[in-house]
Amino acid sequence: MLYFFIFICYNLFGDSMLTMKDVIQDGHPTLRKRAKEVKWPLSEKNLNKLRDMMAFIENSQNDEMAEKYNLRPGVGLAAPQINKSLKMFCMKTLDEDFEIMHQYAVVNPKIISFSEAKTYLPGGEGCLSVDEETTGIVLRSKKIRANAYFVDLETGKGVYKEMKLSGYPGIVFQHEYDHLLGILFIDKIEPNMPKASPIQFKLPETKEEENL
Ligand SMILES: [Zn+2]
Repeated sequence: MLYFFIFICYNLFGDSMLTMKDVIQDGHPTLRKRAKEVKWPLSEKNLNKLRDMMAFIENSQNDEMAEKYNLRPGVGLAAPQINKSLKMFCMKTLDEDFEIMHQYAVVNPKIISFSEAKTYLPGGEGCLSVDEETTGIVLRSKKIRANAYFVDLETGKGVYKEMKLSGYPGIVFQHEYDHLLGILFIDKIEPNMPKASPIQFKLPETKEEENL
């Protein structure tokens, strides 16, 4: 009986692993809405959502898990992409020098400054919510400053602070931030090649492209 009870509980509450079927695709109205402010302090429910989102990113970056669950590799996931119209996202990526890990669970972000200087990913951007192949690049600011709650996913506590980001992590942040405004990268594809210089990755790009 006890085992049965545990089994039921596990299925009701424990099995919250996100897979691609939870990630809504371009055309879904939630992706086009402006997301709502998240109540602070975080509710247990929203904290768990964030944990699930970060777990999805980590699983998608793990070859074994990605293959087992058929996950497209991702470095960022915003709540609207799992059909929750809330201002929060997770990202996990190394910078372009493959040195510093930028892993953040972000709530109620506000980008307060965008540098005039622009950059872009030479191969264009990708998105877990956009299935079709796209060509063309997206111009992003080289540097940004943002205010947000940065959440410790273990404790659920967070601090509201200013963060400066540049280069590749800055691009990822701007891509995820756009999701909270109902904007997809495909809206911003440049018709002409700009004069800005692309992100230079220190190591040659490996295997499959990552999605933001
Ligand atoms: Zn995206």
